Amino acid sequence: MASCASAAGEAVRGCRAFTYDALPSRVIFGHGTAPRLQEEASSLGIKRALVITTPEQGCTGQRARDWLGDRFATCFPGARMHTPLATTEMALDVVASNDVDGFVAIGGGSTVGLSKALSLRTGLPQIAVPTTYAGSEMTPILGETRDGVKMTRRNREILPDVVIYDIDLTLGLPARMSAVSGINAMAHAVEALYAPDANPIISMMAEAGLAALARALPRIMEEPGNRDARADALYGAWLGGACLGAVGMSLHHKLCHVLGGSFDLPHAETHAVILPHAVAYNAGATDAMAIVARAIGSKSAPEGLFALGRRLGIPASLAALGMPESGIETAADLAVQNSYPNPRPIEREDVRDLIARAYRGEPPLSL
Ligand code: NAD
Repeated sequence: MASCASAAGEAVRGCRAFTYDALPSRVIFGHGTAPRLQEEASSLGIKRALVITTPEQGCTGQRARDWLGDRFATCFPGARMHTPLATTEMALDVVASNDVDGFVAIGGGSTVGLSKALSLRTGLPQIAVPTTYAGSEMTPILGETRDGVKMTRRNREILPDVVIYDIDLTLGLPARMSAVSGINAMAHAVEALYAPDANPIISMMAEAGLAALARALPRIMEEPGNRDARADALYGAWLGGACLGAVGMSLHHKLCHVLGGSFDLPHAETHAVILPHAVAYNAGATDAMAIVARAIGSKSAPEGLFALGRRLGIPASLAALGMPESGIETAADLAVQNSYPNPRPIEREDVRDLIARAYRGEPPLSL
């Protein structure tokens, strides 16, 4: 029987048989690929594209007018974090009044999220042009918020039809944002290695993605315009997104979801603080950590990830992100409320201690 193997060929414990579902999306990767939007829109039959951006990236939306040529209909520069339903409804009005027949999302996870919400409701095709490392463009997952409550659903209809990775569009992503977004992508890859539905293809992607990001992020901090480092990071982000889209996530993602939702903490930064601690929690319960350690060039996965965060100069503590100390108990209660797969059993007091260490910014504790 086949086993789940890393790129170097070892088996990952607990994964002797597997199912691999390939997700159907077309990926174009390289420098200066955004101008290919027009021909990709044409292949999908899009004649009147709605370009979606955040207010901050409105200017990129204007450049999309050139890239799309006569297939540009209008721009909606109103995407917001966590895809609030009110924003989706406003965008749907723009779709109806402009005869829109497809979507082009240029931006990070927030922008891609709005495109997914619109595509799901209208059945129209979508092209994602990611400019962060969040990885949403590779997943059939949509998180939406109504009255502050986040609902997540998974459905193949949600997956963008085409993804154009243009490395040049990431050159201006500020270094600090690049670092936390990159660790967010690494978190997808780490949890894929010990997912209950892990499989050898995704494990290979996970290891390669981790190695690419661990190599690239320190170089980006030193030289944000380094084209090779940016190429590596975006490649790693793609692989991380593919991992997130293909297999189930565990404790780390659960904690980030709880913390982000309960205390309105920034998405990527929360991932960056929690990852070494979640990895430490699971370290003794899965062989996957040896693969993580090798990929990031460290003897120990939790210590290596914590050290990488310090080297990148990103916040070490949940306190620095604005979480109140009283939130430690609340988050621990919420994190153990429902059961979910995880290599090591979820114990409330141990999870509480993990959150407390992350709150204070202490190094991770391998239990
Ligand atoms: P984001 O999309 O909110 O972007 C953060 C900020 O960075 C925005 O102000 C944006 O305008 C700016 N920005 C983006 N690219 C830039 C660039 N190249 N240069 C300068 N500024 C740039 O943040 P994110 O971390 O990419 O995405 C977070 C959101 O995505 C969350 O809502 C999260 O839940 C969601 N997400 C969803 C999935 C999924 O599979 N459904 C996966 C990952 C993240």
